[in-house]
Amino acid sequence: MYDFIIVGAGSAGCSIAHFLQRSGKRVAIVDREGIAGGASGVAGAFLSPLPGGKNSYNTFVNEALNFSMNFYEELTPDFINKKGVLRVANDNFSKEKLENNEIDYNYFNAEKLQKMSNDFQGIDGYFYKDAAVIEPLSICNKMVEGCDFYKKDLQELVYKNSFYEIDDIKAKNIILTQGVSKSLAYLPYINISAIFGLRIDVKTTTNIPFNIHKSISISTNKNDGTVAIGATHERHNSSQIECITTCDKCIFYVNTDKQQIDSLLTKANELINLENLEVVKTYKGARATISSYFPVVGKIVDYESSLKKYPSIKNGTKISQDSLVYYPNLYMINALGSRGFVFGPYLAKILSEYIINETPIPKEISTQKLFYKAARKEKSQL
Ligand SMILES: Cc1cc2nc3c(=O)[nH]c(=O)nc-3n(C[C@H](O)[C@H](O)[C@H](O)COP(=O)(O)OP(=O)(O)OC[C@H]3O[C@@H](n4cnc5c(N)ncnc54)[C@H](O)[C@@H]3O)c2cc1C
Repeated sequence: MYDFIIVGAGSAGCSIAHFLQRSGKRVAIVDREGIAGGASGVAGAFLSPLPGGKNSYNTFVNEALNFSMNFYEELTPDFINKKGVLRVANDNFSKEKLENNEIDYNYFNAEKLQKMSNDFQGIDGYFYKDAAVIEPLSICNKMVEGCDFYKKDLQELVYKNSFYEIDDIKAKNIILTQGVSKSLAYLPYINISAIFGLRIDVKTTTNIPFNIHKSISISTNKNDGTVAIGATHERHNSSQIECITTCDKCIFYVNTDKQQIDSLLTKANELINLENLEVVKTYKGARATISSYFPVVGKIVDYESSLKKYPSIKNGTKISQDSLVYYPNLYMINALGSRGFVFGPYLAKILSEYIINETPIPKEISTQKLFYKAARKEKSQL
């Protein structure tokens, strides 16, 4: 008997398991693959600030980054490498955007970079010191130390006599942290799409003083002697393609592995010359994302029962969150996008404080925001 069963042992699941266990709850974590067997085991895993003029999204990302970097360092300094990131301007992030910031940075011209390493390819950029690269598998394992783990592929949720039952284990509460997999709850108001990607680990004799990011990221030399380079972005239409296998076996990639690896290496070499290069490992996975790019956190609204109870919500009538119908003791964290390890601990803090102290969840990441939006859209489609 547990207080919580977490379904999905990625960044989201391991983070919430950690925070709840730290608060004295009995927690089990269930995954069909293992710890960090989904997107989380694939991630680079770069933690970088989001520069640019202040808006609600980059404020949220940068708060999450500060929180999560401190969290990882306190959890285990062995698996975080905080050497900062050099951002090189590109079409999405012009020089103006990289300069117009609330975040501290230093501009490094080509001459200065060449002095640091002859291997820099005549680039210039903006150095942000609060950035890191982590070891995702080791971090996830560390976060769930002390939690029971069950390797199971869940097909449905069974709720009986005020408990969820999963074979021979039971819990009062369930938290779904399933990434791109089909949700065990009916969520017609949350449209998650999968952005597939490939990243590589390479060996090189080049000294890389810090992480570098343009349209791809190159890590500094990590403790195990490798350098992470990632990642490609490939969209599949997930409403047409139901995942039937894990990403490493997926046949729906538009570009072959070789094309994706070549494109990563070409882009990496435009930034820094990688001497004696050898690709040692390829990783493939899918990021879960929604159109706003914000993640989603909270209690799961029962869409149909809520609309049946308050059909006027479709016309815009304001019904308070507390009055909606929810599945019993069922919560979620999802849509972490390309920033799974920036968001994971921060969202876990937010959800655990909501569960334990009823601290409200910020509106922009709440399940209710998406519920109201979808309900009102139904009216416009009638
Ligand atoms: C190529 C690539 C590079 C990336 N690089 C970075 C990066 O540099 N920095 C960064 O912060 N983020 C990065 N990301 C994003 C990051 O990996 C994800 O946002 C994050 O891992 C999502 O975590 P999650 O826990 O939501 O999902 P996942 O890690 O996918 O975990 C979900 C888990 O749920 C399990 N599951 C689902 N349904 C069931 C079920 N019914 N029964 C049992 N188990 C189930 C799955 O097996 C899976 O293990 C990258 C992603 C990709 C694909």
